[in-house]
Amino acid sequence: MTRPTPKRKIAIAVLLAVMLTSCAVKQQQPLRPGEEAFPQPHGFNQFTPEDEVKLGHQLAAEVDAQLPELPPRGPIQDYVSTLGQRLAHQLPPNPYDFNFKVVNEKDINAFALPGGPVRINLSTIQAADTEAQLAGVIAHEISHVYLRHSTRNASKQSIAQLPVAILGGVLGNGVGGQLARLGLSFGMGSVFLKYSRDAESEADRTGAKIMYEAGYDPRAMAQFFEKLQAEDRPGTPQFLSDHPNPGNRAAMVMEAISQLPPKLYIENTPEFMEVKRIALTMKPYTAEQVAQMQRQRQPRLNLAGETSIIPANFFQPLNHSAFKMDYPSNWKVLGDSNSAVTIAPPVGISNDGIAYGAVISGYRPQVQQGLSASTEQIYQALRYSNPAMRAVSGVQPVQVNGLSGQAVNLQTTSPFVDENEQPVPERDMLVTVQRPDGSVLWLMFIAPEQQFDALSPTFNRMLQSLQVR
Ligand SMILES: [Zn+2]
Repeated sequence: MTRPTPKRKIAIAVLLAVMLTSCAVKQQQPLRPGEEAFPQPHGFNQFTPEDEVKLGHQLAAEVDAQLPELPPRGPIQDYVSTLGQRLAHQLPPNPYDFNFKVVNEKDINAFALPGGPVRINLSTIQAADTEAQLAGVIAHEISHVYLRHSTRNASKQSIAQLPVAILGGVLGNGVGGQLARLGLSFGMGSVFLKYSRDAESEADRTGAKIMYEAGYDPRAMAQFFEKLQAEDRPGTPQFLSDHPNPGNRAAMVMEAISQLPPKLYIENTPEFMEVKRIALTMKPYTAEQVAQMQRQRQPRLNLAGETSIIPANFFQPLNHSAFKMDYPSNWKVLGDSNSAVTIAPPVGISNDGIAYGAVISGYRPQVQQGLSASTEQIYQALRYSNPAMRAVSGVQPVQVNGLSGQAVNLQTTSPFVDENEQPVPERDMLVTVQRPDGSVLWLMFIAPEQQFDALSPTFNRMLQSLQVR
């Protein structure tokens, strides 16, 4: 007879633990009243709640600039803010910065960003029959934030750890700022907005709890989602694509609330009916119109104004804790002496990213490895954040002011468009050098393809002044 070796014992213990956990997920206890009885966030998450708040601010700035939102004050916006804050207030103490904005868009949808921003399409208000139904959508979104679903999701995708490790890595002061500085675009199909069915039932359950505590019948939330599902419209409402039905929402909510003492629920209010009346007089933009507006908002590459990007002949030093480097005196430095930095002509930076200049950041590999392996990982991480990016050369050795570095030439699409709103190809050069502490300093030189050669001498002069610390 063989006895389990210690290794096998561990494997069995792990298996049991996994089985127990999955049973625990299946057999949900009914909700109880009171603050301490709130479902808790769980699962591996490599972001801290503070990271989430920062990231949320950055992503919201990007999203708010791109979507047709209602003005910050007005009857609909004021009403939704008040309702949202009242619902968020039911949660146990938390560091999140909840804010609620209405997007003048026709698809029935709502979404939440990490750390607290919640955006609700006008059509959702038009489609809700009662305040309780609208409260249900908002409570569901608040729950995704509180349960930290989008960052848990991002943490699960192992490749996503690379950008985080790189962007929030050795030079990092928060992921969000660097995501934004790098112009890593936050698409509407972003990893932060896709939820699993498990996450959906968790959000329904926590949403039900929020509803109950705020005085709404939690069943109104499930009823609204089922109403969307049943509606005879062409195509799935966007809300259900982003928030897939975990199956039998209404029965699950009924089960979750079965032990809660009965309450006299608020179903509707005159304020909701008035806001809905105003909303119904408005004509929200279609997704197609919104996309068109976004294309028009992209900055144009103004060839006539090119002089503003021409680097000054006079270079000045940048003293960073990880390196020292000279740069054209008329270019700007974003970041500080401990963070990732961007050095660029002011006109080369837009909300959508950097079209001209250099980004300098750091990366600490998980294991000891050669520079080639780190260069490859940095490239993969950048590519993950910007799938249009591709290498147009292999990794090549390069001398950087006496140091052995590596370089790879990349191609992608510039955040700028031409006079005809057509995308402009961009060329980037990624250069990596080892730091004495084993981490890697990486520099990305960026310009539209057409002007890269003209800027090459400037980029080289910067690179050849580099001193790594
Ligand atoms: Zn959801």
